[in-house]
Amino acid sequence: MKDSKKRTVYADNAATTAMSDAAIDAMIPYMKNVYGNPSSLHTVGQVAKEALEENRARIAARLNAEPSEIYFTSGGSEADNQAIRSAAANGSKRGKKHIVTTAFEHHAVLHTVKKLEREGFEVTYLDVHENGIVTPEQVSDAIRDDTALVTVMFANNEIGTIQPIAEIGAVCREKKVVFHTDAVQAVGHVPIDVKAMNIDLLSLSAHKFHGAKGVGALYVRRGVPINTFIEGGAQERGRRAGTENLAAIASMAAALDDVREHMEKNAAKQTRLRDRIIDALIKIPHSKLNGDRERRLPGILNMCFEGIEGESLLLYLDDKGICASSGSACTSGSLDPSHVLLALGLPHEVAHGSLRISLSEYNTDADADAIIKAVPEVVAYLRSISPVWEALEKGEKQFIL
Ligand SMILES: *Cc1c(COP(=O)(O)O)cnc(C)c1O
Repeated sequence: MKDSKKRTVYADNAATTAMSDAAIDAMIPYMKNVYGNPSSLHTVGQVAKEALEENRARIAARLNAEPSEIYFTSGGSEADNQAIRSAAANGSKRGKKHIVTTAFEHHAVLHTVKKLEREGFEVTYLDVHENGIVTPEQVSDAIRDDTALVTVMFANNEIGTIQPIAEIGAVCREKKVVFHTDAVQAVGHVPIDVKAMNIDLLSLSAHKFHGAKGVGALYVRRGVPINTFIEGGAQERGRRAGTENLAAIASMAAALDDVREHMEKNAAKQTRLRDRIIDALIKIPHSKLNGDRERRLPGILNMCFEGIEGESLLLYLDDKGICASSGSACTSGSLDPSHVLLALGLPHEVAHGSLRISLSEYNTDADADAIIKAVPEVVAYLRSISPVWEALEKGEKQFIL
């Protein structure tokens, strides 16, 4: 392992977060004492069962859902798959084989609808414009008589923009179309009320708000049918087999309570740090902030710097102790530019030079200072050795930004 004692600035919280003390502390009793299988009929099992239901109720309360509307999953990806596949299958039974989504969803959504497309569904991918926001009017216009599902993410994981979910929910409810939102980046970071927002299906994942990895949930509004994809025992009311990971579920409930109780304070801190960083980095010549400046998560900013490669920027920043990302953790390692940045209309050569900084309430002013110092240095260095930058400066190529 590399030396992890070197002071690191962790600014990749959209990929995953450190676990909170509250989340870690909540797990331990379920590993040491309350280790029973909630399906066992004896006392040890029944104590676990009670704890399972208590945690379910706590998570439900934070979303203004009923406990019976929460189904535990292995994380956000599974919840997205189950929600979308269920709505598609149930729509298809009534001849509805059309899905509305956006061009910049997480791959857990995009790859699922792409597969459904190959299985005979028709998919409308809504334009997210330069600001990274879809409008309720676009959704309304896209809905047809044969629309089985609208799935629009709550907040984008690469650029942080927040969608008008309550308004989109109202459109879907009025037109009687099932509405799913991938709220993995939003839960614990912004207030969510599934009833007031007319949400039918919502995905969440604990490790994006300081809970354990490998655990999440799907909210399913009462009366909305969902199908079983993992067959086996009767856990999760027959919708998801497998012995429940009670320790991880307890971490999720504790983490969510913790972030919800401190949400305003956390958001204010992250917003302040985020804006400090944006104000400083935007001064780099030929740079651009991606996505709407205001309607964004407190912790996420994404910028492009012309004439450089995002991957090189990341490696040099890592060398300076700064952990950031060029977009989604899932696309790193591939040479294709981010589908999110392309969806904003950015040309390939600009989209390649992207940097995502995602903060949590654990970041400090010293972290922001380090980022504000390091990024301009690395960008200047990479430009100094870039043939593309040389061509831009000589006027052989036109600047885009
Ligand atoms: C992280 C993420 C997911 C996937 O969640 P996992 O729990 O890692 O499977 C899905 N959607 C969005 C928007 C995410 O940020």
